[in-house]
Amino acid sequence: MDCLFCKIVAGEIPSTKVYEDDNVLAFKDINPNAPVHVLVIPKTHIDSVDCVDANNIDVVSKVIVAIPTVAKECGLANGYRVITNVGEDGGQSVKHLHFHILGGEKLPVKLA
Ligand code: AMP
Ligand code: ZN
Repeated sequence: MDCLFCKIVAGEIPSTKVYEDDNVLAFKDINPNAPVHVLVIPKTHIDSVDCVDANNIDVVSKVIVAIPTVAKECGLANGYRVITNVGEDGGQSVKHLHFHILGGEKLPVKLA
């Protein structure tokens, strides 16, 4: 499968890792939208939240459980935002499930 984030997991494309365990990888976004902008992903390929089901919820839950750990390691004691874009209308550009962690400043533009 020609997936950018699967290639990052495989080490075929470099990334700046901030957290890793057996199921989860977190790395700095290459085009940051905030002072801290990290992507948290499952190591196994899942297209998006739209594909979460009973078969992959265990690994998805491990990704979510890693988020506060990643936030703490990034020094986000004053809060942060977690975003996951889904599909065309959601503006998803990489079709491998990822949670953006954004912080390090008071974030602008609150859509929800
Ligand atoms: P989305 O638009 O929600 O699919 O988010 C994809 C994110 O991946 C964007 O914020 C990109 O800046 C980021 N991105 C794309 N290529 C890389 C890469 N090689 N390393 C790190 N982040 C990347
Ligand atoms: Zn993938």
